[in-house]
Amino acid sequence: MGIFRTLADDPSAGVRITPGIEASRHTGTPPDWATTLPGFLPCTPAALPPSFTTGYRFEVPLVDMPVYLAHLHTRLIATGATIAKGKVTDLDDPRLGPVVVNCAGLGSRQLANDSTLRPIRGQHVIVTNPGITEFFSEDTGTSPDLLCIYPHGDTVVLGGTAVDGREDLNPDPAAADAILSRCTAVEPRLAGARVLAHRVGVRPTRAVVRVEVEERPSGRTVLHNYGHGGAGVTLSWGCARDIQRLLGRTGPC
Ligand SMILES: Cc1cc2nc3c(=O)[nH]c(=O)nc-3n(C[C@H](O)[C@H](O)[C@H](O)COP(=O)(O)OP(=O)(O)OC[C@H]3O[C@@H](n4cnc5c(N)ncnc54)[C@H](O)[C@@H]3O)c2cc1C
Repeated sequence: MGIFRTLADDPSAGVRITPGIEASRHTGTPPDWATTLPGFLPCTPAALPPSFTTGYRFEVPLVDMPVYLAHLHTRLIATGATIAKGKVTDLDDPRLGPVVVNCAGLGSRQLANDSTLRPIRGQHVIVTNPGITEFFSEDTGTSPDLLCIYPHGDTVVLGGTAVDGREDLNPDPAAADAILSRCTAVEPRLAGARVLAHRVGVRPTRAVVRVEVEERPSGRTVLHNYGHGGAGVTLSWGCARDIQRLLGRTGPC
């Protein structure tokens, strides 16, 4: 969280500290993590959309992923790093160098022979922003139908879905219509928004994130860093630091 707050000071990073509401159609207590967030405040019923009974305000860093990934790419190249694109089929391939950090997500099913990884497919709809400045998300529990509204300046990311076991990446038109309908019911200004794009991704999910060293029989050292499911952005800097420690290095990432 601290690193994303710092990144929000750099307009090129695609990170904005954004206030908003997480709400539920059921009564209940807020999750522990929410109460520690800046600006945490329970909502009055009048502040909630129709049919919602509980809600909390707080601030979070919202990350505009295409902008953020371009920012990370620029920073990486500035360090003198080079990028080679290609499919790795064997973590013991000597061309990979003396130390390998495996961040292959679902690809680790084959690369690390890990059958405990599974895909959870997710879909978003990107629309023009009709003037929304606050996020909204519903605590939908284990439902595959999510509801989130994330403003990023001129655009808004609307979600979403969480379909366990599916990893195809073609947008599903019915799912997109349902996302638009759920989000517009909560935020009527979205009714006039123009659809700009559909984004589909897969959450590489595992019961426990795998961040550890493997000394391979080949003599190769592999550091694994995969299985972050639907929290890989949130966990990214912390896991990177853990990998850095495992490598025996200190200093800024
Ligand atoms: C719809 C949706 C919403 C999400 N919302 C959030 C959120 O709000 N907050 C949050 O923290 N996280 C969120 N996530 C989760 C987050 O995006 C993932 O946890 C994160 O992308 C995982 O990163 P990763 O680098 O481990 O894996 P990936 O992003 O899957 O990247 C793995 C990379 O490895 C490459 N690869 C795989 N196998 C090989 C191989 N054999 N050789 C070479 N390359 C290979 C792949 O092509 C890919 O580029 C969301 C995900 C989705 C789909």
